[in-house]
Amino acid sequence: MDFLLKRRLLHLLYPTRCPVCGQVILPKEHFCKDCRGKLRPFTGKFTIEGADGFIGAFEYDEEISPAVFLLKKGVCGNGAYALGGALAEALRGTPAAQSQVIVPTPLHKEDLRERGYNQSLLIAKEVGRILGIPVCQAVTKPTETLPQKTLSKNERQVNLCGAFTVSCPEAIAGKQVLLVDDVCTTGSTLAELCQVLKSAGAKVVFCGACCKTPLIEKRGENDD
Ligand SMILES: [Zn+2]
Repeated sequence: MDFLLKRRLLHLLYPTRCPVCGQVILPKEHFCKDCRGKLRPFTGKFTIEGADGFIGAFEYDEEISPAVFLLKKGVCGNGAYALGGALAEALRGTPAAQSQVIVPTPLHKEDLRERGYNQSLLIAKEVGRILGIPVCQAVTKPTETLPQKTLSKNERQVNLCGAFTVSCPEAIAGKQVLLVDDVCTTGSTLAELCQVLKSAGAKVVFCGACCKTPLIEKRGENDD
């Protein structure tokens, strides 16, 4: 069934809501007009060690944070559609949109069990649907790590060292890969994933995040 038709039908049973304020919106919309006007697009430059480029959709601030929170808590079914759609829009026309495969940031199985889903995978699927790029969960996280938010930048790097494994190298070898995450703060997680992907043969790795947190602000619970 056509994607938008499916959303229209679902809308009759479960009205589509703005993931920031909860107001009912049209099934094709990402946010309500009021919230959309308050969200700040990410326009800065950010470098991730080992990555060939970084693209962010929004600056992470108090306006967008309810949508990220709801996506992580699974409360709002529209979060991945809205945030993934915005990331796809930010990526469109950039070299990253030419990627051959999208890889979501993996969760450890305990975190996956607790949450029930990987929010980065939901975002990756939406970006892939819009840009016509296949999604592959090529990297897994067999090692449980300390929450990144409790650590300094150096400690974050050490914490993640060896935490990820490429489970299907054939999906990424020789390819241009787009790594997708919900929120990027210091970029430690994405940097470690870039290194792991390149060691497994990925030719080019771009990183895309729905939100980029300003480094100067107090760290919040969404840090990665
Ligand atoms: Zn709203």
